[in-house]
Amino acid sequence: MSIFTKIVAGEIPSYKIAEDDHFFAFLDINPNAKGHTLVIPKKETNKLFDLEKEAYVGLMEFSYRVAEALEKAVPCKRIGMSVIGLEVPHVHVHLIPINVMDDMRFSKKEKLSEQEFTELASAISSNFI
Ligand code: AMP
Repeated sequence: MSIFTKIVAGEIPSYKIAEDDHFFAFLDINPNAKGHTLVIPKKETNKLFDLEKEAYVGLMEFSYRVAEALEKAVPCKRIGMSVIGLEVPHVHVHLIPINVMDDMRFSKKEKLSEQEFTELASAISSNFI
């Protein structure tokens, strides 16, 4: 069972942003930038292009809605998107509010307090429609 499946099941806490029957969005715990969000399918699948086409399109649609909320809640130049998955073998879309190219490099990390994470999750969540 992946760490993200445990998050969906509520066995591991997360700063949740949104969910529906099939998808779940929450803040990345080691963010490249403030508001760095992960969007996952609830059904555990290792690689993005192993998803059935319908699940892939559903994941992208859900990510689109999360990105809109993110852009309203977090001041930035734009939302960057990336799928890597070398660390956690459960498909996840990285949505990152970016201002400089380095925000997409996964080497520059932002330290946030628990309160900042909680406030960010609630601000993004309240813009999610
Ligand atoms: P990658 O698999 O290379 O796309 O990276 C996995 C991402 O998941 C990293 O950005 C981690 O910071 C993030 N991550 C790992 N564990 C957790 C967790 N428990 N809660 C939130 N984000 C996590």
